[in-house]
Amino acid sequence: MNRKTDKIYHIRCTSCGGEYTSDAAACPYCGTIYVAGAEAHYMNKLDDIREDMEDLNALARQETGAELKSAMKKTLITVLVIVGGIALLIGVFYLINFIKWGFFL
Ligand SMILES: [Zn+2]
Repeated sequence: MNRKTDKIYHIRCTSCGGEYTSDAAACPYCGTIYVAGAEAHYMNKLDDIREDMEDLNALARQETGAELKSAMKKTLITVLVIVGGIALLIGVFYLINFIKWGFFL
């Protein structure tokens, strides 16, 4: 249920008799707290905070995912460079041996 779309109706202040709508937290004329309205305000703010927290969670998850992807890419490139370097060294070693002795070890 969405409290924000609850039906709004007119109420009469118990202290001063002034009329106002049920979405107010307090009487606009004398400031007497309207409990149902104040509770609705409080619950709406609580809902807003909960929604903000959910957005924050989603954002954090998104950024962590992007960082993880970037780190994995860097790791993969590093591993490829190292493996490529080793393969090149072995190739050069065998080539030198072939040139020197005329055969592969
Ligand atoms: Zn009042």
